[in-house]
Amino acid sequence: MDEHGLIAKAWRLNPDMKSSRVLGRCKHSERVIELNRYWTMNAPVADVEQVILHEIAHALTPDAETSHGREWKAVARSIGVLRPKASTDTSVGIPQRLRAVCPSCGNVFFRQRMPRNETLFRHVTCFPVHTPESVLLWEKVS
Ligand SMILES: [Zn+2]
Ligand SMILES: [Zn+2]
Repeated sequence: MDEHGLIAKAWRLNPDMKSSRVLGRCKHSERVIELNRYWTMNAPVADVEQVILHEIAHALTPDAETSHGREWKAVARSIGVLRPKASTDTSVGIPQRLRAVCPSCGNVFFRQRMPRNETLFRHVTCFPVHTPESVLLWEKVS
């Protein structure tokens, strides 16, 4: 972060974020880049580095119109992000505790925690509207 001038701008790194959904995030208001604690401890160093660079690119483009738009991509590439893109694959490497199977297509879903409104969760592709049959039953992954 130092080499990109962020320390001088009072940014800091918090490697202790407890989230099951994202690997890293950039909070402009607090000038902090957060990293997923569990993932950071278990992922290959090169992967962690990529996520840090991804977030640094956000930190360097505070006025970008869209968070993963052209401006961000250019900055991301210039600081060494190999494949600049919005990271959607955020559950990689984080052990999920619960699984549910879509009763229609058999698609398997994983979650870290029981959804608060568990009865409302359904596979929207198969069940555009809520029905008693659409409810996903979450069970512990053994
Ligand atoms: Zn991003
Ligand atoms: Zn389905």
